[in-house]
Amino acid sequence: MQALFIPKRLRDWQPEHMRGTPRRRCHWCTSGPHRLDELVQVLESPMRFYFCKDACVLLWRQNRHDHVEWLREGAGVRAEILSRYRNAEGGGSGSGVRSVDNVEVSVQEDS
Ligand SMILES: [Zn+2]
Repeated sequence: MQALFIPKRLRDWQPEHMRGTPRRRCHWCTSGPHRLDELVQVLESPMRFYFCKDACVLLWRQNRHDHVEWLREGAGVRAEILSRYRNAEGGGSGSGVRSVDNVEVSVQEDS
């Protein structure tokens, strides 16, 4: 009998109620993590997306197909990449989230 292969993310999976207060980053601008009741939920079975505000839902709806690879990454990963970009810029004026367009070209794909 062959051992069943279970991807790590599934092996580590726990029901939501066992993980303490659930928090999510905005799926579009990656702000957060916010508490779930502060987020806008969009259900697209079987997926559920969270956004910090309606404007992010709108932008996501309009642009998601241009950023498929980028959005496939977890919001936490994307937030890290974005903050690295921000730091590389030397702080800047703190104008908030950068355009996703500028970042996407530099995201490495590891199939
Ligand atoms: Zn947002």
